[in-house]
Amino acid sequence: MKKKTPLRMCVACQAMRPKAEMLRLVAEEKGLVYDRTGKHNGRGAYVCRDEECLAAAVKKKRFLKTLGQDISGELLRELEELVRL
Ligand SMILES: [Zn+2]
Repeated sequence: MKKKTPLRMCVACQAMRPKAEMLRLVAEEKGLVYDRTGKHNGRGAYVCRDEECLAAAVKKKRFLKTLGQDISGELLRELEELVRL
């Protein structure tokens, strides 16, 4: 029997994908952080590992709506680097 992969919804395109194909952001007091391991505690939001989804999520302020905080320019640049790999 195939093991069920947990799916998460992208805040931009609303597609359901395996966690491994997504970037997870977690809201911390100091601001949003990128959760590299997927094990970070706290409220998280997922976005596809995709340049367009990332851009759309930022443009539509999805992180602000989902996590109550907007993404910082510094974190956005870090994520933009990641999705280009
Ligand atoms: Zn997406």
